[in-house]
Amino acid sequence: MKSDQFILLEDEYGAHNYKPLDVVIERGEGVWVWDVDGRKYMDCLSAYSAVNQGHCNPKIMAAMFEQARRLTLTSRAFRNDQLGPLYKELCELTNSHKVLPMNSGAEAVETAIKAVRKWGYQVKGVPEDKAEIIVCRNNFHGRTITIVSFSTDPTSTAGFGPFTPGFKVIDFGDAAALEAAITKNTVAFLVEPIQGEAGVVIPPKGYLKDVRRICDEHNVVLILDEIQTGLGRTGKLLAEEHEGIEADLTLIGKALSGGFYPVSAVLSNTEVLGVLKPGEHGSTFGGNPLACAVARAALKVLKEDGLIENAATLGEYFKEGLKKIDNPKIKEVRGRGLLLAVEFSDDAGGARQYCERLKDAGLLCKETHETIIRFAPPLVITKDNIDWALERIIPILSE
Ligand SMILES: *Cc1c(COP(=O)(O)O)cnc(C)c1O
Repeated sequence: MKSDQFILLEDEYGAHNYKPLDVVIERGEGVWVWDVDGRKYMDCLSAYSAVNQGHCNPKIMAAMFEQARRLTLTSRAFRNDQLGPLYKELCELTNSHKVLPMNSGAEAVETAIKAVRKWGYQVKGVPEDKAEIIVCRNNFHGRTITIVSFSTDPTSTAGFGPFTPGFKVIDFGDAAALEAAITKNTVAFLVEPIQGEAGVVIPPKGYLKDVRRICDEHNVVLILDEIQTGLGRTGKLLAEEHEGIEADLTLIGKALSGGFYPVSAVLSNTEVLGVLKPGEHGSTFGGNPLACAVARAALKVLKEDGLIENAATLGEYFKEGLKKIDNPKIKEVRGRGLLLAVEFSDDAGGARQYCERLKDAGLLCKETHETIIRFAPPLVITKDNIDWALERIIPILSE
């Protein structure tokens, strides 16, 4: 079958909750993917940073096959021989004390919300059902009803009410607003270190440090959603390291499996996760041995293959290259590590047209919020790969 026929099938039988570029991919390796018509593309999205280790990373694949032959699912009714080792390796790597494994990113966010509410009632002494969680404008934390309840993007919320109460929205990057919003019932502040889906929005320098101090002063749990920024993407294992802070709860997902399998986790630096008792929370697939084996390999690859350092140095190189684009309609080129974005002015006619042209030139990118293109290739990218990409990006985005 050709691309056209696959697209017709998707459109006829599938819900239209996405508007993908019309490229039908059948194979991937490292930074490259191939479509069903045999065309080759560089992936500059990495499945929203889930494939940091590169498509079909051979070491993760080997671990997955090996584990799939032995044992895939026990449920948490029983123990398995992969869970404990994953916990230990994750804690040592991230300097955490406790781990709660889930599957999707949204589930990790939901888990954190449940944990901090319970912590609020049991430890902080917030009156029953009064817990407040502060979040930021233009946040993206997932798609469940509770999570979209505090989204400020009308596309995410319209038609989906009634919503979960207990959330307060403040401006991202404004530490004074956080301090002003805290009440005696505030249990947590949930924030992305860099807002990914909002268009790679980087807060002012010192923001996370201020946030950390304010949360400490008011006994508020700091939850960093590092599902997109974590695991090497920004040139550090976790983006919090750019400001030398540590969150109380850290949420990771996406690249925790290198794209093989949905795996997410809540990492706890304090004893917040300790409030959850047997039977109070769980997931059939969360912490299953296949997921754990894949995650262990995915973390090992990040560390042993130098992908974090690669993201730091080549991210800088890529960003400098993007800054050479000569187009008065470009408002800003920004980013950290290999999480980069080019923002066009409102009168540029949208970023989608550029994504279509980049696709025709062999680069897969996706616009976010009409005017922004994100460049986030797998962290296994080389300098030569980036030169290849820039040779195509610069002329197209200069038009
Ligand atoms: C992708 C993402 C999520 C949601 O993850 P899913 O696996 O799609 O549920 C949550 N937070 C951030 C910052 C993300 O980028």
